[in-house]
Order: sequence, then structure tokens, then C-alpha cells
Amino acid sequence: MVIYSPGRTSNHPEEPPADGLRYNFLGGGNEVGNVACLLEDPSNNKILLDYGLAPTNPPKYPAESPMIKNAVITHSHIDHLGMAPWLCSQYRTKLHGTVLTAAISEMMWHDCYKVSKIEGYPLAWDKRDIDGAIESWVTHDFSTPWEIDDWKLKLEKAGHIPGAAMLHIETDNGKVMFTGDFDTRDSMLTTGAKPQDTDVLFIEGTYGGRNHPDKEKEIQRFISRVVEVTDAGGTALIPAFANGRTQDVVMLLHQRLPELDIHVDGMGKRIAKLQLSHPEMLRDPQGLESAWRWAKQVSSKSDKKKALNSDCIVTTSGMLEGGPSIWYLNRLRDDPKNAILLTGYQASGSGGRELLDDSRIKIWNDKVKIDLPIDQFSFSTHAGHDEIVDFTSKCNAEKVVIYHTDAQQARPPLAEELERNGHEVHMPINGIPGIL
Ligand SMILES: [Zn+2]
Ligand SMILES: [Zn+2]
Repeated sequence: MVIYSPGRTSNHPEEPPADGLRYNFLGGGNEVGNVACLLEDPSNNKILLDYGLAPTNPPKYPAESPMIKNAVITHSHIDHLGMAPWLCSQYRTKLHGTVLTAAISEMMWHDCYKVSKIEGYPLAWDKRDIDGAIESWVTHDFSTPWEIDDWKLKLEKAGHIPGAAMLHIETDNGKVMFTGDFDTRDSMLTTGAKPQDTDVLFIEGTYGGRNHPDKEKEIQRFISRVVEVTDAGGTALIPAFANGRTQDVVMLLHQRLPELDIHVDGMGKRIAKLQLSHPEMLRDPQGLESAWRWAKQVSSKSDKKKALNSDCIVTTSGMLEGGPSIWYLNRLRDDPKNAILLTGYQASGSGGRELLDDSRIKIWNDKVKIDLPIDQFSFSTHAGHDEIVDFTSKCNAEKVVIYHTDAQQARPPLAEELERNGHEVHMPINGIPGIL
């Protein structure tokens, strides 16, 4: 597959809209992740919101962006910034975001590049484009407005992960807000997003039609399972995403089970260091700092071996797609006292998904049967259905655009309820511009 090949150009309309605001999802309109949305007005004010890549197998890329001077990046997950180096190398686009998103971006891009080489999938940008992208950042404090042409922009906390932002824009056509990935519930790392008055709300609908289990009950279920495994003399392998989930889980274990011997491995260690260097982005910086001092950091082969005899190992990859989690699984799999505790969504085609469906997983080049007990816990930091509906009402949004969503299952029940509540609902399809 060749993407963004020479000679091919964007099919986005060249002229600005005659009136109103025009949006065009190059990706992430009727799918989860892979977000890229152009927003423009008749006076040629224009921005791109996010430019991600969905880390599925094979990955999904947004359509090619036309020339764009300014992109706002909501947060540092790869499905929101994975393709940004291409923008910067192609158009010298400025990337706007919070200081923590900018700090973490470099690591995310290097990891994305590395995975693309290992998996052999195409990437439209090269390793050297990362340097240009790093130099393209313009960082903004929360709640501090800045201007791009006639538009006044502002970032507010989105919950989700530290540094994640919602974008507010004041335009001649009214107030617009993009939630990015957001959650109104507090997590160990972040405080929840607060609604704000807006005319148009672009809202992520990942959890449309689904509600999360009660948070405290889910935590209790997780903690009880950890206790069961460790009391029986086993080690709990806890695969966790690097950016947000690893730190949330370590903080939780520190708070609830301080007597345990916990080891942490993978890219989440470096991300925690960056989070700690921006304490203003954290709900409880002291909490993360003491949890991080308490957990044993794995940094060598001998540390890895020691971790095999500990109570819990928290490590990437969260979907058991390579990384240290596979190394540990391979060594823990023969002792039935050990267990696997999944802490996140397992995409179809991922190692974790295969393990759940078929008790088998690819370790190096072999498909291996795994007889260890396996449990899955829901620690999502996306708003659930009821939170989305409530947030939308409190924003007094006249028009609502539901994106970052599964268009078959998740969006219809959400659209239905929002329409019942009096909102004018838009359901974008990638590549088809809409007018607001
Ligand atoms: Zn996302
Ligand atoms: Zn995210």
C-alpha cells in the first residue's frame, strides 16, 4: 500500500464555504480514532483538528490534508497525532497544544516509527521528520486564549489523560467546541472535563449506547482479583497502555495495596517522568510521585527476571502486541498460579483479543495456547453514554456533531437521545464536508 504518493492531491474543496462553518473529517468522522477534521469559514479562517493514525493491524490513515498553516492537537495518543510529522514536513504546519502533549509527542512518534518498521507497514513520514515536528510546536496554557487570524482559540481540560485538551473557538459564526477524547469523571491522574457554553459541539461518541460499570465497584473487582492471585502465590501480569493507563493502575495499586511488590516496565515509565515534570497537569502530583517511588522500575534484564517473582507486573503493550508484556507472558505461562488482568480495550486482531476469544496468542513466531486465568477490567477514561448526554445538555449546544465513534453500533442510540433532548445532530462521514 502506498499512501500520499507524489502527484496525488487532496480532494478537499479549494474555495472556502459561501456561508456558515464547513467541517470535513479526513478521518475519525464515522470511526474511532484516526482523527483529522478541517474547520473553515467564508473568510478563509481555517484549522485542522488532530492528525492521527489508528494503530490497528494494518493501521488506518486519514485522507491527505490540503495545505494548512495551523493544526490543534488535542492530546498525545497516536490516533490523534500520529500523522502530524507529515504535515510539518509537507506544509511547515504549526502544531498547537499543551506543553505536556508536546513533551510526550516525540516519544509517541518514535514508537510509531519503530512499530511501523517492525510490522512492515507504510508510513507517509520519515524518522527525520520527527525533528521538524518537534520544532513546530506552539504550546498554550489551559484557559489562556490566543488568536489564529480572526478566530479566538482556547484550550480547556478534557480529563482523559494528563495534558488532554478540549478546544474552544470563537468565530463570526458562533462558538465552537471540540471535546477531543474526554471524560467528565475524575481518574487517578486527571480531573474530569467541565461543560462550557457553546453553539456547536463536536463530541467524541466512542461509548455511545454504552455505560461504564460503577467505577468504585470495578476498582473493587480488580483489587479483589489481584489479592486472590497474590494470596495464592502467583504473579498478576497487568498489561496496560503506556500513556495514561500504566500510571493510573500503578497509582491505584499503591493506594489500595501498598503492601504488595509491584514492578513496572515499558514506555509508561518514561511517560510518567514527563507527567511528573508538569505537575500542573495532574490531579494529584504527589500521589503519582509517591506511587512512582514505591513501584520498582524495571530497567535491565536482571530487573526483568526479578519481576517474575513479584506480586504484579504492570507493563506495555496493553493489548499484548509485542513489547515486555509478551516477554513476561512467555515466562509466566507455565505456572497456573499466575494470571492475566487486562486493563483496557482489546482491538480485534490484537494479541489480547485472540487470548480472550481463543486462549491462544502469538509469541515470537508461534501460536501458543495459554492456560492462565484471564480477566478484563473496564478502566476507560472516555465519557460513557450518560456522561456524553449530560455534558451536551450542560454545554447548551444547539448543534452537535458526533465523531470518533462507531457509526453502526455506538452513534445511532446517542444521536437518538441527543435529538430527543432538542439538539440538532450531525453525523459526519469521512471525506464528505458538512455545513453548520
Ligand atoms: Zn482517540
Ligand atoms: Zn485518547
